[in-house]
Amino acid sequence: MNGIQLALYAADPQRSRGRRLPEEPATGRSEYGRDRDRIVHANAFRRLEYKTQVFVNHEGDLFRTRLTHSIEVAQLARSIARQLRLHEELVEAISLAHDLGHTPFGHAGQDALNDCMRSFGGFEHNLQSLRVVDLLEERYGAFDGLNLTFETREGILKHCATDVAAGLGDVGERFLDGTQPSLEAQLANFADEIAYNNHDVDDGLRSGLILPEQLLEVPLFRRHWDIAQALYPAASERRRINETVRRMINTLVLDLVGASQANIDRHAPASPDAVRRLPAMIAFSPEIEAESLALKRFLRDALYQHYRVQRMSTKGRRIVRELFQAFIADARLMPPQYQAKAEADRARAVADYISGMTDRYAMREHRRLFAVEEI
Ligand code: MG
Repeated sequence: MNGIQLALYAADPQRSRGRRLPEEPATGRSEYGRDRDRIVHANAFRRLEYKTQVFVNHEGDLFRTRLTHSIEVAQLARSIARQLRLHEELVEAISLAHDLGHTPFGHAGQDALNDCMRSFGGFEHNLQSLRVVDLLEERYGAFDGLNLTFETREGILKHCATDVAAGLGDVGERFLDGTQPSLEAQLANFADEIAYNNHDVDDGLRSGLILPEQLLEVPLFRRHWDIAQALYPAASERRRINETVRRMINTLVLDLVGASQANIDRHAPASPDAVRRLPAMIAFSPEIEAESLALKRFLRDALYQHYRVQRMSTKGRRIVRELFQAFIADARLMPPQYQAKAEADRARAVADYISGMTDRYAMREHRRLFAVEEI
């Protein structure tokens, strides 16, 4: 692929465990490329544009959304995959799909929906992403969902409780027998982490909720900030922040490539299947892992817990909870296609409807239900 010889341990579309429903082989693209294309054309993918990452979409045009986040994850994952000679299209498919199941209002929305669904089997965004690609997309004549390959589906399901895993068939097996997913799946997780830690620094600073001086207590930031200051003392703060963040990303990527390649060389898996029986091999070095953790802790305390972020989270939770209460009490308030689904399982139909909403759709739907002047 792209003139680069894939490693022996890279996922191989020719040896895929296949799709849930057999289809004619892909032409002009690999099976994983076909998965990626199906994801990009899905309704749930387009909705990511109006779903919160940290900042709600209407708070500003420059903040990341779930869509731009997913694109950044895919960019990082592909670049790392190329260096490790892994399958770029598989890692891209997993990255672009990894957040498809997110509710409106980010983690606040997911927590509220999970609370509402407590006596109905709960709600978990990661499991919902799999549900979107396996079931909820309605695009094809022959099947529900996108009928993706096993390898993309297992990558989307990055964690799962064992009692739930038992009901998921092939993609649930590894949570029961303790094996690992493909290196591409492992990599997508790390690309996600690199992307959100760095863009949350960038968006956090842009919003003014955190300041560069506060971030000086974070070694990963400070080291690169000092370099950017020394190189460009006269540049605007915005440029110095950008010069810092791009260096942080570069350090994390290079470390991940180096440490992972060393792990791979040590275990020397001879096939993609051998990867599954070995310990996880995609990893940071211990030093960078500690630095990345310190950055995460800072963001949790200074940004995610910031009172202004909390205020929006509280509003998001309230909207999700009140929508749920209204629909669970009377399924006839939902659009007809969800009413039909509610006949089989009302709570799950309500959760599917709410979790598919964008931030602005949820706000509008809330107004339509609760504000008498709205229709
Ligand atoms: Mg993500």
